Order: sequence, then structure tokens, then C-alpha cells
Amino acid sequence: MESQINSVVIVGGGTAGWITAARLAHDHCANQPGGLTVTLIESPDVGPIGVGEGSWPTLRVTLREIGVSESDFIRECEVSFKQGSKFVAWRTGADNDFYYHPFMPPEGALDIDVNRAWLKHQPEAPFAYAVSAQPQLCEEGLAPKQVQTPEYAAFSNYGYHLNADKFGAFLRRYCIEKLGVNYIEDHITGVNAAEDGHIRSLSCRASGEITGDLFVDCTGGRGLLINQHFKAPFVDCTDVLFNNKALAVQVPYDTPDQNIASATISTAQSSGWIWDIGLQTRRGMGYVYSSAHIERDQVWEALQAHIASTSRVNIETLTPRELSFRPGYRSTPWVKNCVAVGMSSGFVEPLEASAIAMVEICAKTISNELPATKAAMAIVAQRYNQRFVERWDSIVEFLKLHYWLSERDDSDYWRDNRRPDTLPQHLTEMLELWKHQIPSTADFHQILELFGPPSYQYILYGMGYKPADRVTRSRRDNDEIAAQVFQSVSDSLKKGLRGLPTNRSLLNAITQRSGEGI
Ligand SMILES: Cc1cc2nc3c(=O)[nH]c(=O)nc-3n(C[C@H](O)[C@H](O)[C@H](O)COP(=O)(O)OP(=O)(O)OC[C@H]3O[C@@H](n4cnc5c(N)ncnc54)[C@H](O)[C@@H]3O)c2cc1C
Repeated sequence: MESQINSVVIVGGGTAGWITAARLAHDHCANQPGGLTVTLIESPDVGPIGVGEGSWPTLRVTLREIGVSESDFIRECEVSFKQGSKFVAWRTGADNDFYYHPFMPPEGALDIDVNRAWLKHQPEAPFAYAVSAQPQLCEEGLAPKQVQTPEYAAFSNYGYHLNADKFGAFLRRYCIEKLGVNYIEDHITGVNAAEDGHIRSLSCRASGEITGDLFVDCTGGRGLLINQHFKAPFVDCTDVLFNNKALAVQVPYDTPDQNIASATISTAQSSGWIWDIGLQTRRGMGYVYSSAHIERDQVWEALQAHIASTSRVNIETLTPRELSFRPGYRSTPWVKNCVAVGMSSGFVEPLEASAIAMVEICAKTISNELPATKAAMAIVAQRYNQRFVERWDSIVEFLKLHYWLSERDDSDYWRDNRRPDTLPQHLTEMLELWKHQIPSTADFHQILELFGPPSYQYILYGMGYKPADRVTRSRRDNDEIAAQVFQSVSDSLKKGLRGLPTNRSLLNAITQRSGEGI
């Protein structure tokens, strides 16, 4: 009888650990006889990182699929609605310099060349505003749906801003009470290998040896299994993405009814950028920076000045938290019977909130392709490693695009970011292609691509990249369809402005209602 994979042990109870536990336990019926055994071990001595407040719309799908009530999630995790990102001062640093990367794809992108249609018919409007109602809805601070809209349904596509600590606690309760996850609070002190190099068991300080068939390393940056035990190679991306530190603070609202921004606001600075994420009772803010380009004290000064320009809080009351990370990823996140998910598998700056979305993709892939036997494990692992290296590379390239296209010239940081030797070869080639055509599905080869053609279009054209006109005409230059597209954007905007509540008022309505779905 071949050895079967019946039991999965997840190490780590941060966002990565609990999302993976929920996905596996739900999909493989851990709460039913004959289902997969899913155990999560979390150290009482090492807390989760406790940052990670911006998500993608993928989280909506994950939560719905694992059966979570959206209202409960919103009430218990201090959640607000996020409809995209607003990038301020990235292009030139001038006062009126901003653009949006909304979650709604450009209207009509499947039917016409939206870039050419935009330049021909609406050249005075910023690209995102011409092809989507969402940037204006965000500017107005509106919610993505009405009070009576069912859970997870939407007028405009959305993800969430959330309190990471509360989210971990919420998922823990849901996993244990509803999904049948076994929970062990204990510190792992050793990893015990079998003769074939697979992990046989983990030694815990109080609970003794814990055995399993597959081990998921969700221990954060330390990578207890994938790094300390297996020493899986790390691909350092500092030569492309310079940021390696952050100072983070929590800023209270000036008044309890202050509106809540519907997008993450990312404001470029001399040597990095500041995030501003509005939750229900506070804003999460932080300056992500390159320690090779700026000192911590200068960062704190700039962050304080930025907060003072947007809030009446007494700056003296704020205590910044310093976080360090090494941008990069493991080239073999799956080794033998161990797969790393979350910060243990890699991390790059949170500019597009890719980390939680990557965790979701990892968890879903592991769940969908869970090997039934030990013999199948190596085949699944090899395929998994190849796909995730491609995904990491494409995330690194997408983030680099934000810097490469900037015209800012106020510091070495921005100038260094435009040095040709810092641009990945593949992105160099794509930029050559995109001089004459818009990014399309032909340029991407993964089904679960985190950043596809719409994201590239928003960043390229938001940052002022203007492709040269094609010499010949194309069937995709269709004035009639273009007119319909722009009319549809304008109609959606009117409808949204008329019917949508503010982000704050929708959240108030949800949180004040008890127990029933919205
Ligand atoms: C500045 C910053 C901003 C970020 N912003 C975003 C964002 O906006 N959006 C986004 O998607 N992501 C963001 N991230 C990333 C996000 O925070 C993480 O991807 C996410 O929290 C997942 O972390 P994790 O679960 O992998 O690790 P952690 O939260 O570090 O969890 C590690 C777990 O391992 C356990 N553990 C460790 N050692 C042992 C041991 N010996 N025995 C037992 N258990 C052990 C700990 O108890 C803990 O539960 C940000 C990260 C940083 C640094």
C-alpha cells in the first residue's frame, strides 16, 4: 500500500497559517469522518507580524468559498472596503500628481484597443477615469455597494482593509469551531527527519512529537522548516526593488464619523513611499524605505510631517514600529514534504498588497493539487516550484514598473531606480512590445496571474507611458464600440454617485446590525 497523505501540519498562526488551514480544512472536509486531518501549531512566544492590512478582491472569493459570513468578518476585524490604490506623487512629485489603480478592469478592453480609444476620444481625461467609474467613486469616498446588496455581491469590485491581528483571531475561531482544524499552542524546538529526508515529526516544547504527512511552513520571515531545516535557496531581489524597511504607526481619526478612504493611498517620498489605510476606528500608516538611501530618523521626520498634513493627531503620542525585510523569495518553496506559504516563502514591499493574495493562491494551489500519495508529492512539488518562481518574478517586475516609469529626479533613490541594470530583462522586452500595443493576455501565461493586463494598463498609462501610434489601422479601432464604452462608464458613474452610500455609512449600517447578512 503506497503511503497516503492523510494529515497536514501547518506551523504558524499568522495570516498565512490560518488562511492555509481554512482552505485545506474546508476543501478536504476536515470536520467530517474520513476527511483530511489538519493541525495548526502556533508558538505562544512568537507573535504574528501583525501588519498586512490591504487585500485584493481575491480575499472576497476566499472568504465566500470557505463559508465565512461577510458581516461577521466586517464587524470583528475592523474591516473597510477597498476599491483599489491611489498613487500620489509617483510620476513627477508635483502637487496635482496622482493616478488610480482601481480593481475594476478597463471597460471594453476585450473589444477595442482601449488605449487608442482613450487617446483619440478622451485625451484630456486620465486613463483610469476614462475607462472606469471607480476612481471617481473612490474620490467621493463611496462604498462599492448599497446596504441591501447581498454579502460579497458588488456594484464595483472590491477587496478589504483589515486589522491583521483581529483577522488572525477571527480565522482561528472559525477554523477551530466550524472547519475542524486541530489547534496546538506550543513552541517547536526541533525538526526530525526520516531516512529519505522527509520531515517525520516536529518536537514541541510541551506536546512532544507531532507527526504528519505534509508540513506547511507559515513561520514568517524565519522560515523554521524551509529555511532553517531545508536551507532552500533564497533569490534576493534587492538589486531590483530597493526597499527593505518600514516604520509603521496607527493614527486615530480626528472625529469618530470621519469618512473612510475607499482606496489605499500610497504617497511617494524621497526614498520610498507612505501607505495610508483607513480602517473603521483608525488609519494604519507607514513609510516603506530603502535603508541604503535614507536614515531612519529622516524617515520618521517625513512620516510625522505627512501625518500632520492629513490629521490633527498629537504626533507626540505616536510610537513607530520598525520592520525589516529582505526582498526576495525561495526558489524551491516546496522541498520533500514541506511547502512554505507566506513570509517564509518570500516577501517584497507591500506596494500592491500582493502578500495576502499570494498566500491565497498558494493555499488554493496546494488544496487543489494536494498529492494523494508520497509518490505523487515530488511531481506536484516540482510543478508548484516552477509556477511560483514565475509568479514571484512577475510580481517583482510589476512593482518595478511603478519605479521605472517615474520622472522624479529629487533623490538618488529615484535615479537609481531608473538605472538600466536594475530592470529585469523580461520587463525590458515587454516595455519594447508595449511601445506599440497594449498589454494583453498574450503577454501573460499563468491562469492565476495576480497582476494581469488591466493592472499593467493602469500603471503604464497612469504613469504617463504613451505608446507610439501604430502605422496601420486595426479592427480594434472601432469608434462605435468606443462611444458605447465611454457612455457606459459615464452611466455607471452617474448611477454610483446617485445610489451609493459613503464607505463609513455602509460600514456603520453593517456593524450596527446584529447577526444577519447584509
Ligand atoms: C511593513 C509591512 C506591510 C505589509 N502590508 C501588507 C499589506 O498591506 N497587504 C498584504 O497582503 N500584506 C502585507 N504585508 C505582508 C503580511 O503582513 C504578511 O504576508 C502576512 O501577515 C503573513 O505573515 P505570515 O503569516 O507569513 O507570518 P507571521 O505573521 O510572522 O506568522 C508567523 C507565525 O509563526 C509562528 N512561529 C514562529 N516560530 C515558531 C515556532 N518555533 N514554533 C511554533 N510556531 C512558530 C508564530 O507564532 C506566528 O504565528 C506587509 C508586511 C510588512 C512587513
